[in-house]
Amino acid sequence: LVPAAPYGLPRVLALANQKGGVGKTTTAINLGTALAAIGESVLIVDLDPQGNASTGLGIDRRSRRVSTYDVLTGDVSLREAVLETAVPRLHIAPSTMDLSGLELELASQRDRAYRLRDAIRGLNGGRDSGSLDSRNETPYSYVLIDCPPSLNLITVNAMAAANAILVPLQCEFFALEGLSQLLKTVEQVRTTLNPQLTIHGIVLTMFDSRNNLSAQVVQDVRQFMGDKVYETIIPRNVRVSEAPSYGKPVLLYDLKCVGSQAYLRLASEIIQRERALRATAAA
Ligand code: ADP
Ligand code: MG
Repeated sequence: LVPAAPYGLPRVLALANQKGGVGKTTTAINLGTALAAIGESVLIVDLDPQGNASTGLGIDRRSRRVSTYDVLTGDVSLREAVLETAVPRLHIAPSTMDLSGLELELASQRDRAYRLRDAIRGLNGGRDSGSLDSRNETPYSYVLIDCPPSLNLITVNAMAAANAILVPLQCEFFALEGLSQLLKTVEQVRTTLNPQLTIHGIVLTMFDSRNNLSAQVVQDVRQFMGDKVYETIIPRNVRVSEAPSYGKPVLLYDLKCVGSQAYLRLASEIIQRERALRATAAA
């Protein structure tokens, strides 16, 4: 496999949509697991005060002594907040409810939108420096940021830190509602904070094949967003919704179910897009 980050930098993808319940956290956990299963090394950064990504990966509240809140306030490095999960090559920086107070605390700080970007840049400092086999690379090829359901300062931090945005859209009647506001925010962040920011892709989630509406939504979103929409569609699958209560990604809970298989396909589609992007950049 070609490493995702040839220059020792991780690819940073933010999972964003200001609507709640569209599959951001489920996709962060299971795409992260699928990428790790394919051989990538992945860090999930939990930026939702609800901490569902942390819980869904089996990180109980007592072990979150250091969290993304402490990272964004500047008290600790990102590396210090990272915990291992049951999935090899998949790590997480967990969140706590403290995050919900962050916006006010950072209000007067000039660098408040860049806290996460700087923390991710700091990942490749400090370890093994000077030793022969250290090439000063980050240990991760992908960083996936799980955003809260809001376009607040936390989400702006994620967008300022990201190379690209991954947008989960639920296959329901109001799927496209709110998308133009999200795209507008991405555009604002691109012009003010992060000129390289792009939309990586849109992933349709909770597709129900027995429901005609789902198929109609797929058609509408593809018409509106063209090839930004991934070919892979995540089906509604009860195994996907059961897995978090066992503190497991669905790929560990039931590898054969249609939900797990869809997330594996999404991971390989994302890796293919990354290769195509790199080929274009190198040409
Ligand atoms: P968000 O992070 O955008 O708020 P979640 O990932 O937490 O959304 O998903 C919302 C709810 O939908 C959760 O209860 C989750 O278990 C469920 N869910 C997500 N994806 C699926 C799926 N493919 N099939 C069934 N349930 C799903
Ligand atoms: Mg969530």
